Amino acid sequence: MIENTVELEVKHLKKYFPASHKRVLKAVDDVSFTIHKGETFGIVGESGCGKTTCGKTCTSILEKTDGEVFFQGKDVHNMTKAEKNTFTQKVQTIFQDPYASLDPHQKVYQIVSEGIRIHHLAKDKEDEKKKVMELLEMVGLNAEHATRNVHEFSGGQRQRIGIARALAVNPEFLFCDEPISALDVSIQAQIMNLLMKLQKERNLTMLFIAHDLAMVKHISDNIGVMYLGKLVEISPASQLYEQPYHPYTQALLESIPIADPGLAKRKGRHFLQGDVPSPVNPPKGCRFCGRCSKCMDICHETCPELKEISKDHWVACHLYDE
Ligand code: SF4
Repeated sequence: MIENTVELEVKHLKKYFPASHKRVLKAVDDVSFTIHKGETFGIVGESGCGKTTCGKTCTSILEKTDGEVFFQGKDVHNMTKAEKNTFTQKVQTIFQDPYASLDPHQKVYQIVSEGIRIHHLAKDKEDEKKKVMELLEMVGLNAEHATRNVHEFSGGQRQRIGIARALAVNPEFLFCDEPISALDVSIQAQIMNLLMKLQKERNLTMLFIAHDLAMVKHISDNIGVMYLGKLVEISPASQLYEQPYHPYTQALLESIPIADPGLAKRKGRHFLQGDVPSPVNPPKGCRFCGRCSKCMDICHETCPELKEISKDHWVACHLYDE
């Protein structure tokens, strides 16, 4: 249930990296958004658009270059040791690649119980064991799995272990960094359903990163569309699918596969051409210029600002200038 309380507030966040020849890679360039308690905010964009860097900077995995990020009112890049300790308990990450994020030689019990021990969340060994078994059951695994090594599990099962590890410390916020992208299509829906169920049961707040709009459709309350370091459209999820304004969002929606080839042909779909250009020294105007069929003179000169064009629906595009 979405409450009025602001859980994460991101203000003019920038994350730059030095590039060769004294140039600057602007991975995240002046991004602002707010996530309320119990809300799932999806960030969508193609590979290389800066969405994962944005999530990692918001959750203090990466240092910021400029701007501010507040979690429950605390500046996440300026925390005391005690505040950082609380933050690392309350904010957990589910990583994209369950093969790389879990040590294959560790036992499942070790992995899931580690956070419980670090944050002193169990009364004794028996209590710890009970908690681990409950967590495994919650994510669709069982007691017999606890004694096995991670390398014995499939990708989908490993992601379930990763989710159990994240939930072990009773988090309030989950940063889901493309948690289903590395999994077989047949497993993706299972993991999404599990995340949605857990989000509801525990009233978690989530920042959910994905590379296409189909993945975040059912899980997100609000969605931000990111292109080359900037959010170009922010909207309640239902509105975004019904009335996408930004040409990039429209192209992303067109790129969602339709199972019926006849219907796809009748709809006259225009797929997104080319790749995301380099974020090193990006152009001064609209960053989507080179791929936008509606590009105008002004688009080459001036970078469009986000404007609210209907309630809670923000777009950065000169097509909607007054
Ligand atoms: Fe296209 Fe111009 Fe809008 Fe950018 S500002 S998306 S180039 S119309």
